[in-house]
Amino acid sequence: MSLVQEFYSIAGTVLRDQRRVPSIRVTAVEPTPAGPRVRWIGGPGGHRVVATEDGTRWRGGVGPQWLLEGLSRYLAVRWRERTPTAPADWSRVLAGRHPSVFTSGGPYTGPGWAALLATGAEWIEELGVPSGFETTDVKEKMGTLRWHHHADDWPDDIADAIEAVETLSAHVCDKCGAPGRTRGGPWLATRCGAHAEDR
Ligand SMILES: [Zn+2]
Repeated sequence: MSLVQEFYSIAGTVLRDQRRVPSIRVTAVEPTPAGPRVRWIGGPGGHRVVATEDGTRWRGGVGPQWLLEGLSRYLAVRWRERTPTAPADWSRVLAGRHPSVFTSGGPYTGPGWAALLATGAEWIEELGVPSGFETTDVKEKMGTLRWHHHADDWPDDIADAIEAVETLSAHVCDKCGAPGRTRGGPWLATRCGAHAEDR
């Protein structure tokens, strides 16, 4: 599957889960220092839904264009590194590269999510690591990624970046990083076709 095919594949499943019809067209794959970035037009717009009740503001789900941005960033990292399998010490290396994000050591997930977690770390650093930011735990639960964090105060876009990465994990094989889906069986896991039985 090419980079553009992976973009369409994952975008299709991510947006369908949000009960929206994608109408996306890739216009370019642009070389950048961060890796080859897919540029697109179309797709559902709008911000995440925010409900207010009794003056309290509730954050809704992360918006579809933000998810596509996260996907474009993820594929840049995945295709930049071109490593079919993450090295055994990927978690330690990742934490070493991003000490202000992975403040309590490396994440404990399948190696297929290494590039997804690198995407999140680079995105947070680009937005600006908030004061007092801490990653308290990163793990798999019910087949998808949970990234527990807190900070003294942080803008919505940091929370949205982390939520986008968590959302994308339901569409990325945790063994190899290829497009996948969360599958039942002995236990829930997000896997591509090739790793579907490997549970
Ligand atoms: Zn796989």
